[in-house]
Amino acid sequence: MTHSPSVPALVRGRRRALMPGALGLTALLTLSACGAGPDGGTSPEGAEATSSAPQGEVVAVATTTQLGSVLGQITDCVGTGSVAVMGPGDDPHDFSASSQQVAQMAGAEMVFANGLGLEAGLEAALSNAAADGATILEVAPELDPLPFTAVDGHDDHAGETAEEHAEHADEAEGDAHDGHDHGPLDPHVWMDAGRMAQAAEVMGEDLAQQTGEPRYADCGGEVKADLAEVDQQVAQILAEIPEDRRTLVTDHAAYNYLAEAYGLEVSGVVIPGGSTDAEPSSQELAALVDQIRDSGADALLTSVGAGSSTVQAVAQEVGDVPVVELYESGIGPAGSGAETYAEAMVFNARALADALT
Ligand SMILES: [Zn+2]
Repeated sequence: MTHSPSVPALVRGRRRALMPGALGLTALLTLSACGAGPDGGTSPEGAEATSSAPQGEVVAVATTTQLGSVLGQITDCVGTGSVAVMGPGDDPHDFSASSQQVAQMAGAEMVFANGLGLEAGLEAALSNAAADGATILEVAPELDPLPFTAVDGHDDHAGETAEEHAEHADEAEGDAHDGHDHGPLDPHVWMDAGRMAQAAEVMGEDLAQQTGEPRYADCGGEVKADLAEVDQQVAQILAEIPEDRRTLVTDHAAYNYLAEAYGLEVSGVVIPGGSTDAEPSSQELAALVDQIRDSGADALLTSVGAGSSTVQAVAQEVGDVPVVELYESGIGPAGSGAETYAEAMVFNARALADALT
C-alpha cells in the first residue's frame, strides 16, 4: 500500500567545507546582540529572537517553508532554534533574500536548501553565504529525485519540452553550489511525504555531524517516523478517489512526485518549463484546452491564493473541471490549518479527495 522509494546511500561531499575564519562578522554581531562576551558562549534563553521567533539559539536556516517546518521540528526536539528565509505565500522559484537573511544564512551552522534549481532567485545569496563560510546542504538531490520528463504532461509539445528541458539542464549545471552533472531533475520533492520523511533523517544526520551533537540525528529519526505516518495518512485519504477520477492538470509542473507517490496522473501543465514564471502562448493554451478535454481531466490544480488568471481562463474555457487550490509551493499562514508541512500535506490530500470523490 505504501510506496517506499528506494533511497540511495547518502551522497556526501557536495556541501561547502566550513571556513572557520569567515564566520567572524556575523558571529560577532550575534554575540553582541545577545550581550555575551566574545568567548562566553551563547545561552539559548538569551539568544536574539529572529522574525519567526524560534525557541532556542538559531543553529540552522532553511530556504523554503516546507524544509523550514521539518527543520523546526528537529531543532525544537533538541531545544535549539531554526528559521526559514521564505514565508507562507512566497514563490520559491523567484524568492530573493534580504541582506539580513543572507547574513543569517552565513551565520548559521548549516543552511538547508531544496536545490535542483528550485531557488532560482536565491542562487546568488546562497553563493554569498557559502563564500562567507556557510555550510549548505541541498536536500532534494538526496531524495531519489525524479526526472522532469516522467509525467510532466507536455507530451504533445515535444519540441518545446526538449528546449525547456535543455534550459533547465543548463540552469542546473550552472548552479554554483551543486557542481555535479544531473540533467533535468524535478525539484518538487516535498509533494511526496515519504521523501520528506527521508529528508528529516538526512537533515538530522547532517546537523549531528556538523555540530557534534548526536541528538540531532535522534530527533531527525523521530521526525522521520512522524512524517512516515503523514505519508500513510495522505495515501489513505487519496485512496478514496475513484480510479477513473485521477487525471489532473496542474498550473505548473509541481505535482509529479504527488502523482508518482500516490497513484495519480498528470495529463497537462498550464505554465510550461517547470517553474512558475513562464507565460504560455495563446496557441499553447488552445492546445492545452483541447488536451484537457481529450484527456478527460478531473481537476485543475493551482496554488492557494495565487489567483492565476491563466488557470482561471483555462478552467472557464474547459467548462466543467473544478479548480482545486492546494499548498503546492509552501505551507500555509497562521490559522490556515496548513501551517506545518505535515498539516499542508494532509490539507492538500483532503481538498483533492473532496473535489474528486
Ligand atoms: Zn514549483
